[in-house]
Amino acid sequence: MDGACRARARAPGRFQPRRPSQSVLYRCIQEHLETWLIQCRDGHDDAGPVPDYVEREFRRYLECGILAHGFARARCGQCGHDFLIAFSCKGRGVCPSCTARRMVATAAHLTDHVLPQLALRQWVLAVPKRLRYFLQRDADLQGAALRLFLRTVESCLRTHCPGAGPAARLGAVAFIHRFGSALNAHLHFHCVVIDGVFESAPADAVVFHAATGLDANAIAQVQALVRQRLLRVFVRRGLLPSDDALAMVQWEHGGGFSVDGSVRIEADDRAGRERLLRYCARPPFALDRLRELDPERLLYEGTKPGPGGNGPLLLTPLQLLDRLAALVPPPRVHRHRYFGVLAPNAPLRAAVTALAVPAALPAAAAPPGHPAPTADEPVHRRAARYAWAALLARIYEIFPLVCPRCGAEMRIIAFVTDAPTIHHILVHLGEPTAPPRIAPARGPPRWDLPDARAGGLDPQTQPAPEYEFDQRLSW
Ligand SMILES: [Zn+2]
Ligand SMILES: [Zn+2]
Repeated sequence: MDGACRARARAPGRFQPRRPSQSVLYRCIQEHLETWLIQCRDGHDDAGPVPDYVEREFRRYLECGILAHGFARARCGQCGHDFLIAFSCKGRGVCPSCTARRMVATAAHLTDHVLPQLALRQWVLAVPKRLRYFLQRDADLQGAALRLFLRTVESCLRTHCPGAGPAARLGAVAFIHRFGSALNAHLHFHCVVIDGVFESAPADAVVFHAATGLDANAIAQVQALVRQRLLRVFVRRGLLPSDDALAMVQWEHGGGFSVDGSVRIEADDRAGRERLLRYCARPPFALDRLRELDPERLLYEGTKPGPGGNGPLLLTPLQLLDRLAALVPPPRVHRHRYFGVLAPNAPLRAAVTALAVPAALPAAAAPPGHPAPTADEPVHRRAARYAWAALLARIYEIFPLVCPRCGAEMRIIAFVTDAPTIHHILVHLGEPTAPPRIAPARGPPRWDLPDARAGGLDPQTQPAPEYEFDQRLSW
C-alpha cells in the first residue's frame, strides 16, 4: 500500500488526492531514468537496450497522478465544492498505485463473477532452483508444469470427495508469480482452487462434491507425486539427466520442491476470499518497503524473518531501475489463468460461474452517465464497469467520492485534457502547472554502490532466498 493509500485509510470517508511525485520511487525514477536508459543502450552489461514497452511503462508512471497531464473534475451536488482527480497510467509493473488497483479489480471480478460461494483452498508450488531456471525461460514448460500440478491436485480432490465420479473436475484460478519478495527472479505458482469437484447433471445443471478430510498427509502426498512427475517431464524433455532426476527424488525435506495447501477459506467468508485473491494477484513491488538512505543508496526492506523471509536489499537507484524493469510483463501476458470447469471452453463454466454472487455496491459506484450493472449483462461487460471509486471503496470500506465539506455524494462532471484549460484551472487553484522535471542523463556510470559495506549491508553476501511465500493474509 503506498503512502497516499495509508493517508486515505487514516481519514475515513474523505478522498484525498494522492501526491505520487513525493514518493521515494517517483523521485528516484525522475532523477535517474534518462541516465539509466542511456547506459543500458551503451551496454553496461549483457542486458542490451531497454525494450520499448519497459521504457513506456516508466514514462507513463512519471505522468500518473500528475494534474498537469490532465484530470477529471468531481463536484458536490449539494454545496458545489469540487476537486480534481488526476489520470492514472494503468501500468502493469512499475506504478504502485495502478498495480494495486489492478490487483483489487482482479480480486473483485473473481469474487463477484467467477468463483461460486464455496470453500477455497490455496495451493502453492515451488520447485528447486535448477528446474526454476528452465521454467523462467520457457512459457510452454511453465504451462505444462502448471497443468501437471493441477491434475495432481484434482485427483487428490476426487479421492477426498465421496460420491465423485472419475470424470469430476476441479475449478481453479492460477497465478504465475515470476518474482520473489526481494524482487529476485523466483518462478512459482499460486492456485486458488475450489475445495471440491464438479460433475455435470441433466438439464445443464451441475453437481458439486465438497472435499472432506483433506489433511496434511494428503498435501504431502500431492507434493511427492508432483515432484516425481515433474522430474520425469524434465528428463523427457532432455533438460535433466535421468541420474540427476533419480538423485533429486531422494533428496530430503522435499528436495526444494514445496507444495503448500494449508490456507483454506470457508464458503461464507467473503472478505477472506477477496483477501486471498488479492494476495495471489498482488504486484511484486511494494512501495512501502522502499526507503532512501541517501541519494545514492536505497533500502528495500525484507519480509518477516523466519522460513520464507528474507533480508533487506541495498540498491543504487540504477540497480533499482534494473530490478523494476524486469518486473514489467511483456504486452498481452495474462496474470492469471483458468483451469478445469473454469477454463474458457469448459462445458460447465457457465453453470459454475452462474453460482457466483456479486457484492452489493453503492448505487453511486456506477461510472457517471451509466446505470448500475445489471445481472443479465454479459460478465465481461460487467467486469469492465468497476469504477475506480467502487474499487477504492472495496479496499477501504468507505465510499471515497464523498464531499469533504458536507458529506454529500460527489460526481464526475468533466474530463479536462486540453493544455490551455488544464493550465487555466491549475493556475486558479494554485497547483503546479508544469509536471515534475525529469532529470537529464548524466555520467559517469553509477551502477555500483560507492561503499556497499558502510551500512553493514553487503548485497553480494545476501543469499538469494530459496522460498518466498508468506501465507499470512495481511491485506
Ligand atoms: Zn458538499
Ligand atoms: Zn499509475
